[in-house]
Amino acid sequence: MTQRSLFDHEPDPWELDALGDTLVASVVLPEEPFGPFDYRVPDRLRGQVAAGHRVRVPLGKANRLVVGYCVRLGPPGGHAGRLKDVHSAVDPEPLAGPAILRLTEWMADYYLCRWGQVLEAVIPAGVRAQAGTRQLTYLDVPTEVAARLSRLELPPKQLHALRTLLGSPQPLTPPELAERAQCTQAPISQLRRKGLIRATVRRTMDGRAEPPAERLPHLQLNDQQQAALDSILAALRSGQHSTLLLHGITGSGKTEVYIQAIDQVVRDGRQAIVLVPEISLTPQTRQRFRSRFDHVAVLHSMLTGPERHWHWQRIAQGEVQVVVGARSAVFAPVPRLGLIVLDEEHDASFKQDKLPRYHARDVALQRARLESIPLLLGSATPSLESWHQAGQGEYRLLSLPQRVENRPLPDVAALDLRTEYRSRASRGAVSRPLHRAIEQALRDDGQVILLLNRRGFSTSIQCPACGHVVNCPDCDIALTHHAEGDKAVCHYCDYQTRVPERCPECRFDGIRFSGLGTQKLEREIQRRFPQVPSLRVDSDTMRRPGSHEEALARFRRGEIKILLGTQMIAKGLDFPNVTLVGVVNADTALHLPDFRASERTFQLVTQVAGRTGRGEKGGRVLVQTFSPEHPAIQAALRHDYLRFAAQELPVRQRHGYPPVSAMIRIIARGPRERAVEQFAELMGQRLRDALASAAPDHRLLGPAPAPVAKLRRRYRFHMLLIGPRIAALQQAVRSVSGQLPTDDEIQWVADVDPLDMQ
Ligand code: ADP
Ligand code: ZN
Repeated sequence: MTQRSLFDHEPDPWELDALGDTLVASVVLPEEPFGPFDYRVPDRLRGQVAAGHRVRVPLGKANRLVVGYCVRLGPPGGHAGRLKDVHSAVDPEPLAGPAILRLTEWMADYYLCRWGQVLEAVIPAGVRAQAGTRQLTYLDVPTEVAARLSRLELPPKQLHALRTLLGSPQPLTPPELAERAQCTQAPISQLRRKGLIRATVRRTMDGRAEPPAERLPHLQLNDQQQAALDSILAALRSGQHSTLLLHGITGSGKTEVYIQAIDQVVRDGRQAIVLVPEISLTPQTRQRFRSRFDHVAVLHSMLTGPERHWHWQRIAQGEVQVVVGARSAVFAPVPRLGLIVLDEEHDASFKQDKLPRYHARDVALQRARLESIPLLLGSATPSLESWHQAGQGEYRLLSLPQRVENRPLPDVAALDLRTEYRSRASRGAVSRPLHRAIEQALRDDGQVILLLNRRGFSTSIQCPACGHVVNCPDCDIALTHHAEGDKAVCHYCDYQTRVPERCPECRFDGIRFSGLGTQKLEREIQRRFPQVPSLRVDSDTMRRPGSHEEALARFRRGEIKILLGTQMIAKGLDFPNVTLVGVVNADTALHLPDFRASERTFQLVTQVAGRTGRGEKGGRVLVQTFSPEHPAIQAALRHDYLRFAAQELPVRQRHGYPPVSAMIRIIARGPRERAVEQFAELMGQRLRDALASAAPDHRLLGPAPAPVAKLRRRYRFHMLLIGPRIAALQQAVRSVSGQLPTDDEIQWVADVDPLDMQ
């Protein structure tokens, strides 16, 4: 059948055009209007435009040129004649391969944002700018010139230069040729002018590989590690996607299991991605992987644009066996991905708090599905999300219930701050028993870690005499003190009550709203132990690049005896000489207006407790708390994750919170409080209506003022969509998002699977 016979009428000119092999590029933009828009690929750009490339396209009546991403290339959908042409190609190579294109398309859909925004966020700026590349001219001799070389009449210098270039197995740059031929640039320029030498311009890149690390052999796995590894190897061999959750207590040797699994991936000629919290990207971690594999790329936030670009290119060319990095490394363009490992999978830093608000664990899961490979999640304190999946049989659970070499877990004891307070025996943050324990540890030449995870804003309302915390009756979370009007407010449902003058529990009349920060603690430690070198580590002191690593190195060398700080010091560190960990106040996270408050507290105390007892000397942990009987603290004192999960999941079930339900958080903000509130009310009503008609088993909480009710001079209101199916919630947001009044002053965002409730 000829193409013409497709039509039973005389075709319109544009239909004829469509009959040829017209190519149409579907283009998405990183800014409004986001597209996708279709453009015709003119003949002169054929071969230069493909999916994953950026292109310059004309937009609007004025045909303003903008840069967008070509996400598809194909035959026209029937309107090719009316399409504008792509103006030009931007990138010589695609910035996103098929895997990343599919992944980012999924992200835009799932996280309720635009494909162009996701691509722009996911492809590093240094890569887009081709940072660190240089244009170099390469010279070679065309074959037809080589063929008549003997017949050419040339001055001796030119002839010599030409013969030298011909003798070189690869093209040379002009300076290289001048050096080899021992001549100046003059004869070379003359040869080029005569057309006897051909010049091509190519981009090259200067990169620096880290010097090779000393290679170490694999450790001999213990039986539990071996069993876990065997399961992972079986998953790798299956050639299918599966998710494995490795629950291993602190110091159980999870990393060694990852390394030996990756070793198999590498021997199969594939690559692996290892995601860790940014804070764990220490020289120690780097060294651990670099001592086992030849080609490791470590992607951390301090890389410059050119460095990032250089790694990106090496990864894309398959030269890197293992990519180790923080959450954005999930987008590393590895060509033959064999395994993704996500260590400390419970860590909140895997969630990005700006657009696109993705969780690297969920993106990794999606990528692993798309590429039919296993995903390995590891933690001593798995997120309840992952634990729930394992309980449902969606993830395969692997366990390492013991520390390597049967080292004991440290003894953890609670120090009841209520008795301390009543006896007025101590002033300040450090109780007498903790003070004595620090003295003892220092006398025995051990080191001390003191954790105080005080976040600045929220003050819970707590009775210092009995520890009672005033909670919302409907939501089971702490009420927040509002000085204005002396109110106690629930930030989920907007329940309000007056702050009680006496403790509702024990009638004590000194109920208080207080907090203690790391700076105050630091001063106290310096006063109590004036001769002892101590160091504070929190996001305020660690702003300068490298300062975190430097602090840890000084602690490792023993120059620092007491390390005190926020959760930054709670994670992943392996210091054998730490014999005491003190948790200055375990309750800091316990009473935040957040349904994950218990989970965070359990994780934090368990993780920091795991920093001790890693060497010969053993270790102990003292946990100061007003709530020693709180289930999360009780479970942490026993290192008992199973117990914690078993008591916490039913609580979530009862209140309909994740992981039992899906959740989307909407935040609206603007400079005028009343206007934001009205907008939020309207949006809330529309969402309620949308849910009522399409998904009546789903609900909306709020709107209410966000716990951080004002941020950078913007008032904030939020609401929560909750229900069994995330797709129903996403659909509700999509259905109302186009019909909201547009007000330049008011912005709103949707946070799918929110972690931050502030
Ligand atoms: P986790 O990540 O589970 O906290 P690590 O992987 O950091 O534990 O291991 C803790 C320590 O035990 C590390 O110093 C590691 O080198 C060591 N280790 C791991 N596996 C073994 C083993 N099979 N034999 C001896 N030492 C091991
Ligand atoms: Zn009380």
